[in-house]
Amino acid sequence: MGGSILVVEDEAAIRDLLAANLQRAGYRVMTAGDVPQAEALVRDSRPDLVLLDWVLPGVPGLTFARRLRSDQRTKDISIVLLSARAEEQDKVTALESGADDYVTKPFSPRELLARIKAVMRRRAPQLADDVVEIAGLRIDPAAHTVSAGDKPIDLWTTELRLLHYFMTHPGRVFSRARLLDEVWGEHVFVEERTVDVHIRRLRQALAPTGHDKLIETVRGTGYRFKPDGLQAVPVAQPGAQPQPSA
Ligand code: CA
Repeated sequence: MGGSILVVEDEAAIRDLLAANLQRAGYRVMTAGDVPQAEALVRDSRPDLVLLDWVLPGVPGLTFARRLRSDQRTKDISIVLLSARAEEQDKVTALESGADDYVTKPFSPRELLARIKAVMRRRAPQLADDVVEIAGLRIDPAAHTVSAGDKPIDLWTTELRLLHYFMTHPGRVFSRARLLDEVWGEHVFVEERTVDVHIRRLRQALAPTGHDKLIETVRGTGYRFKPDGLQAVPVAQPGAQPQPSA
């Protein structure tokens, strides 16, 4: 499901090459030539990942990485550091500064893409195209299909994105505002009760197989995807004997 990447690199030729490759791979790309430009872009439109060159004019890439990590609003942004330095100590320093991965120049575009994909999958699973299956409910974001058991479920795009977000973050409670940011995008102006409308539609679509019970309303807060929502009240296993205490 793509994702957005900010490329911070002062060498225009490399920056353009990176941007073109990433766009072709389906990412939304922003570019900056130095840290002040990058900081302005991060403030305006929070990217999912920053591809950051170590050596930049003025503020070095590592300093920017540390700033991103120390700020509540940006600490979850993935960082992949690019550098010509291949010494082990440099890699250690980069990872300690908060980078999720470190790629040495010159790099193969395919390897870089694979590393970016891996970091995205780890830190933002809702952006990956992996099939997710929970409690018999299966979502294939690449194919835009959902099924319960062997029964296909027809969903509109927003409901599909909402379900995918829930299934990649099971058990966590999300406010309506947070769901709007994550599923609709931060710059979309929609009222919070829009979320309720889409939740209702999603539940209707999931109701025939009982999977609507996986989506729990958390009073006064928002919603949660409950992976164990299909299970009834726990009953004692037939024949199970209490374990003798040691
Ligand atoms: Ca550079």
